[in-house]
Amino acid sequence: MNISVVGTGYVGLVTGVCLSEIGHRVTCIDIDEAKVEKMNNGISPIYEPGLSELMTKNIEKDRLFFTTDHANGFYNADAVYIAVGTPEKEDGSADMKFVKQVAIDIAIDVSKDTVVVTKSTVPVGTNDKIKEVIQANLVNNVRIDVVSNPEFLKEGSAIEDSFNGDRIVLGSDSEYAANLIEEVNKGFGVPIYKTDIRSAEMIKYASNAFLATKISFINEIANICDRVNANVEDVAKGMGMDKRIGDKFLKAGIGYGGSCFPKDTKALIQIAGNVEYDFELLKGVVKVNQKQQALLLDKLNERFDSLEGKRIAVLGLAFKPNTDDMREAASIVITNNLIEQGAEVFGYDPIATDNAKTLLSDKMVYEGSVEAAVEGSDATLIITEWDEIKHVNLEVFRSMKYPLVIDGRNCFSLDKMKEVGIEYHSVGRPTDM
Ligand code: NAD
Repeated sequence: MNISVVGTGYVGLVTGVCLSEIGHRVTCIDIDEAKVEKMNNGISPIYEPGLSELMTKNIEKDRLFFTTDHANGFYNADAVYIAVGTPEKEDGSADMKFVKQVAIDIAIDVSKDTVVVTKSTVPVGTNDKIKEVIQANLVNNVRIDVVSNPEFLKEGSAIEDSFNGDRIVLGSDSEYAANLIEEVNKGFGVPIYKTDIRSAEMIKYASNAFLATKISFINEIANICDRVNANVEDVAKGMGMDKRIGDKFLKAGIGYGGSCFPKDTKALIQIAGNVEYDFELLKGVVKVNQKQQALLLDKLNERFDSLEGKRIAVLGLAFKPNTDDMREAASIVITNNLIEQGAEVFGYDPIATDNAKTLLSDKMVYEGSVEAAVEGSDATLIITEWDEIKHVNLEVFRSMKYPLVIDGRNCFSLDKMKEVGIEYHSVGRPTDM
């Protein structure tokens, strides 16, 4: 089928590339000219394992195209996917301005019957509004149907997730449209769950809110473990053996970040508030996460009277491993605070440094390796559990002024750190040095 994808961020580009991989003819549209130029030269503007290779392959097969021109991009499309951002507004609600603009672009430029598929995470009722906006501005006499198709991919394993996801959710009030998009997705071989539009919209928020709840829950347990000398990793393992609980998303650390959980949890609190429902549990989840990001700073401040002039190494800057995405990364809050306290901060990230430079303080110093960041420092903080960091030779910490490692992701074995003689503090695991 002919498919247009509007927005080529983490979701749009992965969607477009994967749809072309299963045989569709896909045109990706973005308003960012520099991005489109890059993609037309076969270069992915984002880091995502396997994406570049699949992109090049499908460009060469002549079934993947990029343009800034909506009319050209929509030409002959059987389906138009909306994958633009829905960022957080100041009050926590989701900003629909990009989605609304795309609805208007569709109304002006589509020239044949089209199914509009919303991939962006949007508040309940948005797909109905998208249809209203398109109908109200429609230039040509064509039929428009709408399908809600929320995205569940995880940055860092987005391609893998697209072909091995747990489910594809399709919400529509049009059987014809739902069946057509089911057909589009068949090549992924992933179970398809069809429902109504509003339930589909809610499934996305409820899923993210539940996963965020699991993370905040285990972090609270970790904080108690810290105080009662229990080991949260053993606790999580023992809990996860119960199939009703499951062993996923029970990894204690310094909380969730990224472009989804922080904004989607706050948006769901707003969605509930709009219908006069106080989502107390989720408010607690958000509060716990904010507190958790400060944990490394608390542990560091307990060790030093002042951080003025101290050299602090920060390993990992991206919000999680295998991505260059820095949105809502814990490193932002942590490095800003360190710099405010007068520390000299030396950061290292295998991939996200360019994006970090646009978001972190210009007082940050960036190093090209773990070794360079760590050497001569008074303390090392671990923020992102990249494989390269988890598998570093522990002797590297002996090049510090004093080997003090405060690990927000529980990367190392307590025994091994002890063996090498490193003062090691982690999350919810006993510190006996
Ligand atoms: P992003 O910010 O990375 O990309 C959005 C892209 O849309 C940008 O390239 C921007 O230039 C483009 N754009 C904006 N307006 C446009 C227009 N009128 N026409 C064409 N292009 C336009 O966003 P993202 O992270 O890919 O997220 C997109 C949506 O998917 C959001 O609603 C997000 O909540 C949701 N989502 C994201 C993830 C994730 O892991 N990033 C996962 C699931 C769902």
